[in-house]
Amino acid sequence: MNAEASSQPPRVLVVDDDETTRFLVSLTLEQAGFQVEQAANGRHALTVFDTTAPDLVIMDVMMPELDGFAACAELRQRPDNALLPILMMTGLDDHESIDQAFNAGATDFITKPISYPLLGYRVRYLLRASAAMARLQESERRLATAQRMAQLGYWQWSRDQERLRLSDGVCAVLGFEATTPDITLPVLLNFVHEEDRSQVWQWFTDVCKHGNSQGINYRILDTRGVVHHVRQQVETLFDDEHRPLQLYGTLQDITELRRAEDRIRELAFTDALTQLPNRSLFRDRLGETIKLAKRHDRIFALLFMDLDNFKRINDTLGHRIGDLLLQATADRLRECLRASDAVGRENLDNLDDGLTRTRCNIARLGGDEFTILLSEIRRCEDAAVVAERIQKRLSRPLTLEGHEVFITPSIGIAIFPHDGDDAETLIKNADMAMYSAKHQGRNLYRFYDASLNETALQRLSMENQLRKAIEQNELSLHYQPQLDLSSGRICGVEALVRWQNPVLGFVSPLDFIPLAEETGLIIPIGAWVLRTACQQARAWQDAGYGLSRMGVNISVLQFIQPDFPSLVARILEETGLSAEALELEITESLLMKDPEGANHTLQGLKALGVQLAIDDFGTGYSSLSRLKQLPLDRLKIDRAFVQEVNTCPDDAAITTAVIAMAESMGLRVIAEGVENEAQLGFLRDKRCDEIQGYYLSRPLPADEIAVLLHQYRQRIEPISQA
Ligand code: C2E
Ligand code: MG
Ligand code: MG
Repeated sequence: MNAEASSQPPRVLVVDDDETTRFLVSLTLEQAGFQVEQAANGRHALTVFDTTAPDLVIMDVMMPELDGFAACAELRQRPDNALLPILMMTGLDDHESIDQAFNAGATDFITKPISYPLLGYRVRYLLRASAAMARLQESERRLATAQRMAQLGYWQWSRDQERLRLSDGVCAVLGFEATTPDITLPVLLNFVHEEDRSQVWQWFTDVCKHGNSQGINYRILDTRGVVHHVRQQVETLFDDEHRPLQLYGTLQDITELRRAEDRIRELAFTDALTQLPNRSLFRDRLGETIKLAKRHDRIFALLFMDLDNFKRINDTLGHRIGDLLLQATADRLRECLRASDAVGRENLDNLDDGLTRTRCNIARLGGDEFTILLSEIRRCEDAAVVAERIQKRLSRPLTLEGHEVFITPSIGIAIFPHDGDDAETLIKNADMAMYSAKHQGRNLYRFYDASLNETALQRLSMENQLRKAIEQNELSLHYQPQLDLSSGRICGVEALVRWQNPVLGFVSPLDFIPLAEETGLIIPIGAWVLRTACQQARAWQDAGYGLSRMGVNISVLQFIQPDFPSLVARILEETGLSAEALELEITESLLMKDPEGANHTLQGLKALGVQLAIDDFGTGYSSLSRLKQLPLDRLKIDRAFVQEVNTCPDDAAITTAVIAMAESMGLRVIAEGVENEAQLGFLRDKRCDEIQGYYLSRPLPADEIAVLLHQYRQRIEPISQA
């Protein structure tokens, strides 16, 4: 077809029923260097065309059998003839024929009488144009193929049109039908993945302002919702006022590329034997964890683990068993750390598991060395709990291809930032701690800082004992009486929990209450205290001791449980104690942290009819205006102020002010920790309502309180009975 490129002279088919014209045209063209075929009418032309495959056809319009228009239309229909130049010979001024010829698919026309000297040129240029056309089509086809292979499409936006022109490639990525849909740039941007959208918007805004920019990679959803990774590049054409006139964009689907990249990364960062992260990924994560911990001021633990006697197993049972052992170890680590991942302290069903919600990252550094990164731990003991669990799990016998294998781990623990605040130091110190564990007899875990071993052990042991305290009946309540100064009557008692443990002996609430709060154990313990105190109060009332108030300490964690008010209601109902005989003591800190939430709960409790007191008042800097809005009954002035009322002017001033302020707000005041006459005198002077302290009585077991209540009852009749 491409006559210009071949060495053969171009072949022309001349069709005319008029022999003279046909002869003259043929002669002229032959003299101009063309090879000529002839046909006398349309039908004949089709046959000659099929046998000689000419590069160009010159055809008369009016002919017998088949006229030029019909023959031209037929030729166009044939495969590969779309670009065949067909030159029609029409009469001068025969407009109708010219139109008809073009409609039938003619490329051009010449008019009769023919200008023979120019005919050769005419034909040659027509051939050249057709060859150029063919080349252009071929190049477009190649470009389209290349773009398809590269999954590359392009689009164009011009200001005057608003609408986008999308190439087939872009349509293919987005899943549009092949014809360009009628969409605008904002609509196209709507296909961008939600998470990438604002970034892509920003990028386009920049491109429209500043022109060429680095490309951008993002995710785009096709019409079926399938996500594609694409690379976008744009060039901007500006007008004289630097406003964007046109945007030319390419969009390349790089989903496959991304997948390959991911796979490469996976191969580069995972240990092939265990599928755990390898050393490089571990280093990365450690770096990230350090950054995060610094930013949020958190601690985390790095556990360095090594299997005891792994080399011996490798040597005696062979490398295959050694490999299987490492794989089994990885599986066991995953298993026991997955469990700790899921358990949160808040999850009360799992209270016998002492772990914080901890994020774990296990890695194999090589050989039999593994690391475990425990981010977001709250206390060093959490790391000890994990280490202990790993030890237990790994020490169970294993059967590998018929061989029973026993293996134990040695674990070193480094705590960030205590034992190092950079990756290098932490790894080195965890490693050293691991060596010290090995040295001290294997199958051990050791903290890098030896003093932590002691504390962690103590606290763990206390925690384990505390878990069993309720069921083993080790908790009891003591009661400390409170005296109403105006009547001289015992108006109430405060219940204070006591813990007597066979291993640890007597443990002060100042030591175990914080632990119970950290571990969530305060929930069952607190409920036990509340129930026991209410039962006791009811019993004393039934015995006619005229006790009008039972104070119970409530810790923050109990208070923020959504069902706390209903728990209180339930216990009151169970024990038959009237609500106004129960006073809940809460601390100031609780009101400060979440005033809204606290107020809501306080209102709920108040609705039950219970009394509400602020414990240890004066230490928390509550704002007065805030206190005013809460449904409170009593302030308990902290012992620390009472202690020095007669020696420290500041404490005297504070105590005086609190009493005055409470009076103005209609709140009652009780002073805690009154130990002597002088303190009592001061408080009485300032018209403090009530006192509590060793001066009156230490906290006592129930039976001793009964005696005391009895004595006081005989001294003064109670004003009222609850
Ligand atoms: P708190 O509620 O302020 O209780 C008063 C503490 O002061 C008690 O200590 C009591 O024995 C002590 N105390 C009373 N009078 C005097 C005195 O004249 N001088 C001195 N130096 N101390 C006096 P305890 O029983 O050791 O309790 C300490 C804290 O433990 C309590 O402080 C309370 O915050 C907490 N606690 C005790 N029992 C419970 C409980 O059942 N639940 C909760 N959540 N916390 C409790
Ligand atoms: Mg208290
Ligand atoms: Mg107190």
